[in-house]
Amino acid sequence: MTPLPTIAILGTGTMGAPMARNLVRAGFGVRVWNRTLAKAAALAADGAQPAYTPADAAADADVLITMLADGAAVQQVTAGPTGALSVLRPGATWIQMSTIGVEWTDRLGEVADCYGVTFVDAPVSGSAGPAARGELEILAAGAEPVRETVGPIFDVLGRRTVWLVRRGDGSRLKLALNNWLAVLVEGMAETLTFVEALGVDPHIVLDSVAGGPLASEYALAKGAAMLDGDYVPGFPLRHAVKDAELAVHAANQRGLHLSLTKALLPRWREAVANHHGGDDVASAVTAGTAVTVT
Ligand code: NAP
Repeated sequence: MTPLPTIAILGTGTMGAPMARNLVRAGFGVRVWNRTLAKAAALAADGAQPAYTPADAAADADVLITMLADGAAVQQVTAGPTGALSVLRPGATWIQMSTIGVEWTDRLGEVADCYGVTFVDAPVSGSAGPAARGELEILAAGAEPVRETVGPIFDVLGRRTVWLVRRGDGSRLKLALNNWLAVLVEGMAETLTFVEALGVDPHIVLDSVAGGPLASEYALAKGAAMLDGDYVPGFPLRHAVKDAELAVHAANQRGLHLSLTKALLPRWREAVANHHGGDDVASAVTAGTAVTVT
């Protein structure tokens, strides 16, 4: 039997930590690094090997996974003379799973090419719960041969992989899905605020929508969280803002104006400024409840 590849994971935050645990459980050798070292060290109890630097984690690894906040963070830990790519063997595979948008994906893919490393653009849909249950949806772009290498890894991390061919299409699809997510969350926040202003119990909105053609499981869950004031992060608001900004930028570059997403951004940034950045995206409802009518 072919031995399982050794995997280095850079970034063991909300998403990276449960992904690392699942890969250890599935029998992969897993090395972990995180900027705040304690988060990686905590995974030793699960059987992962913590490393002090990105390069230490990546040395001799067959597969590198990045699950970091944004494109700048990914570049910082992978590129340059002390980055993870400098020690990865040519022919190794880099699965880039953070949400970093199209430009960063193109740029980092080119860096990988310079090192002879196979780059797989594979952001994910799904939050902390699905990551822990191995039920992410993986939006992967890569040519046929690499699918065989990464398939067993994706089988552990996700319930489904959507395969695309052109590099960057995983990230393009991810931007589209998170644009949809942003519009759903904002629509729910605004509707609940509106119905409250009408003097109707907002719970009735959720009850009326549930089970009917207007229902979205995600929007209803976020609506319930908004009404409960439960902002325990599944998907932190600061990442939702980052993704909305990436979507607006990608659209602008194509001469398209994402008017709904642009409209929600100032309010979501306001919620981040009011210390909700680490809270769940449902906390977007906290901004704009007191609106001035002009
Ligand atoms: P997170 O909990 O905020 O973790 C972010 C990670 O990035 C941490 O390891 C953090 O290190 C690291 N980091 C940030 N800036 C860095 C820098 N300059 N240099 C090195 N490391 C840096 O984020 P997450 O929720 O796991 O999300 C990770 C990625 O997945 C993001 O791109 C996010 O948009 C995407 N995503 C998230 C979800 C979700 O529901 N959470 C779902 C789908 C996709 P420290 O621990 O030291 O801060």
